[in-house]
Amino acid sequence: EKEKKISDQEKVQKKPSEPAIFIPVDRSPEVQEARLKLPVLAEEQVIMEAVRENPSIVICGETGSGKTTQVPQFLYEAGYASGGRMIGITEPRRVAAVSMSHRVAKEMNLPTQVVSYQIRYEGNVTSDTKIKFMTDGVLLKEIQKDFLLQKYSAIIIDEAHERSVYTDILIGLLSRIVPLRNKKGMPMKLLIMSATLRVEDFTENQRLFRTPPPVIKVDARQFPVTIHFNKRTPLEDYTGEAFHKTCKIHRMLPPGGILVFLTGQAEVHSLCRRLRKAFPFRKGDTLKMRKRRLLEAGIGDEEDGDSDLDLGDDPEKADASIPLYVLPLYSLLAPEQQAKVFRPPPPGTRLCVIATNVAETSLTIPGIKYVVDCGRVKKRFYDKVTGVSSFKVTWTSQASANQRAGRAGRTEPGHCYRLYSSAVFGDFALFSEAEITRRPVEDLVLQMKDLNIEKVVNFPFPTPPSTEVLVAAEQLLVSLGALEEPPCTGRLKDMQRAKLSCPITPLGRAMASFPVAPRYAKMLALGKQQDCLPYVIAVVAAMTVREIFEDLDRPARSEDESSKLNQRRARLTQMRRLWAGQGASLLLGDLMIMLGAVGACEFAGCTPRFCENSGLRYKAMVEIRKLRGQLTNAVNAVCPEVGVFVDPKMTPPTEHQVVCLRQIVLAGLGDHLARRAQGEDLVDPKWKNAYKTPLMDEPVFIHPNSALFKTLPEFVVYQEVMETSKMYMRGVSAVEAEWVPQFLPQYCHFGSPLESPSPWFCSSTGTIRCHRSSTFFRVGWQLPAVEM
Ligand code: ADP
Ligand code: MG
Repeated sequence: EKEKKISDQEKVQKKPSEPAIFIPVDRSPEVQEARLKLPVLAEEQVIMEAVRENPSIVICGETGSGKTTQVPQFLYEAGYASGGRMIGITEPRRVAAVSMSHRVAKEMNLPTQVVSYQIRYEGNVTSDTKIKFMTDGVLLKEIQKDFLLQKYSAIIIDEAHERSVYTDILIGLLSRIVPLRNKKGMPMKLLIMSATLRVEDFTENQRLFRTPPPVIKVDARQFPVTIHFNKRTPLEDYTGEAFHKTCKIHRMLPPGGILVFLTGQAEVHSLCRRLRKAFPFRKGDTLKMRKRRLLEAGIGDEEDGDSDLDLGDDPEKADASIPLYVLPLYSLLAPEQQAKVFRPPPPGTRLCVIATNVAETSLTIPGIKYVVDCGRVKKRFYDKVTGVSSFKVTWTSQASANQRAGRAGRTEPGHCYRLYSSAVFGDFALFSEAEITRRPVEDLVLQMKDLNIEKVVNFPFPTPPSTEVLVAAEQLLVSLGALEEPPCTGRLKDMQRAKLSCPITPLGRAMASFPVAPRYAKMLALGKQQDCLPYVIAVVAAMTVREIFEDLDRPARSEDESSKLNQRRARLTQMRRLWAGQGASLLLGDLMIMLGAVGACEFAGCTPRFCENSGLRYKAMVEIRKLRGQLTNAVNAVCPEVGVFVDPKMTPPTEHQVVCLRQIVLAGLGDHLARRAQGEDLVDPKWKNAYKTPLMDEPVFIHPNSALFKTLPEFVVYQEVMETSKMYMRGVSAVEAEWVPQFLPQYCHFGSPLESPSPWFCSSTGTIRCHRSSTFFRVGWQLPAVEM
């Protein structure tokens, strides 16, 4: 206890043997007081000692124990930001990087030029920056520019338990960079921070660290949290269930904030709306008015009481007339909105935060006493073979459910209401899987090759992806021309090894410098032709942003909403038709719609109003704008001689350019070629209007919202297949059969020279030319003969 009170002055005196570096920080008395309550502060000496004595350390501590906000300050005070080097700290989520940098700046009483952040599109880093918060992806890009990370004296990898791919890769890279720096006499420290004790993947991984780094545990002063399981079998409508539970807590239980965990932004908003309606937050309301509204909302007193809410606390004290201060929290929420959850709620109200799993470990909301946990999480799933992706809401893991519960016991004993039974909880996986085992890795493989890591299989991944997945990634990159073709001769074993160590090509290097997935990077690299680059940039930006249209197909809850939705759907359909263009441009399909939407939106000044009126997601459009700027800069840096200038508004492409764009898209998405089902397939009705692909046995379809839904061209390429009610292709463009052997020779088999027309001598190349028949790989589709 006493140790905590050691003032800054005494701290210096207590460590006389150390280099006398101590950078004073001028904290306000309130901050000073709040800090002293954080468990991590009691461990400052232990942590700093370990940092001094070891190149790498691991810190484990409950969420809210002060790791993210305090550890960078410890390093700062110990002089790690002096001498022109920075302290870097990575977060898997943008929201955490931004909000934590603001918080630390405030605690240290330093301007944001000194404690700064950098995320994909923005940042406030200056030459004065000493502590830099960033997303893990940003640091990975920096390693590409300077492998030794010479700007930094220490790197903190935060939220390592989340096991995001970039975090995993960074740890692998830093396990090599740190010893290198030490060897070169420019020591650097690595601190890995985790909210769980499960760190064996880092510490006991021989390939990663030869001597396991010490693990420092921060004992959190966690108050007991009583867990209440639902008795009933879990309901489908967990949002409704969450609503009722929250209402009951608010009506019956003593003061204390409520935190509800749901799975996505739409759910968060819908619950916020319902709760605000039920417990309006208005000045001058009478008690009677509130009670009436409660009854109207179906949560009056006559409703059946759930006995699990009788906690022996004095329910009399709770007053349903207290307004509920309802706030949403999810990662794409505007920063000003996010910041609200940290401020005390208006006097006389109860705080109620409806959040996705960002509130699980990255952000700690003060004053939470009740947690309502739906037990689910929304995740993206990929099929390893076909690459089909889908968002699915699934049960979370036991570890993450316990993290969620823990949010209720930060300041006093709390309660967690799980909207599922204890039997269901028993079936949860113990821990969430590392992300790297769940997604394709071609982008990572390309980034690593660009770092001259030729044998990616040998990379010290904390959890290695399967060899099969790595081979698939190298194959795709070879077919995109980013890696050199592996030799086809030698023993089978050598050939297999060669497949996993293809060196990068100059095209691959250019592609790696674009901050987009390799297929799109290829399109950018080809975009120079016919002045197509501005269009390619716009299309790639639009494809990279997950969804540019609002989801208007959601079910409506009231008749009023239903008619509004109908109107907006009709309007969006009309806009889609307009943007899809006519004649030749129609064949660019969904990508033409994207181009049209981006251009029209910029023409209208990219306002929220325009987006709302035309069914576009405003956030997506803003992101596209930023990404276009960023991609333009990247392209100009790679090929300065091209000198693209992007006119945001864009004139529509000419007919000629449309053809060129379709060919570029084909070159990038070649492995996503689909052909309309024909012949004997059509006997089975499931193949009606369906497409075949080389990788899947099942039929895939063009979505009714697609520009090509009525056209149904013979050959198309698609951005991805998304499984919803059916297997639907997203981002579809029509391609011509004769382009396939021409632009995708790597996917074609060529027959022997045809007799007619007979082979001829071409004087300009000095070779004998002929026509050859061609077929598409795996499926053997007959393609037009091609001149070779
Ligand atoms: P950890 O990283 O161990 O989860 P943090 O360092 O994020 O812990 O949080 C420590 C404390 O700082 C928590 O009590 C949290 O509520 C508080 N805190 C974090 N950000 C803010 C903020 N923007 N405003 C007020 N308090 C904050
Ligand atoms: Mg943290």
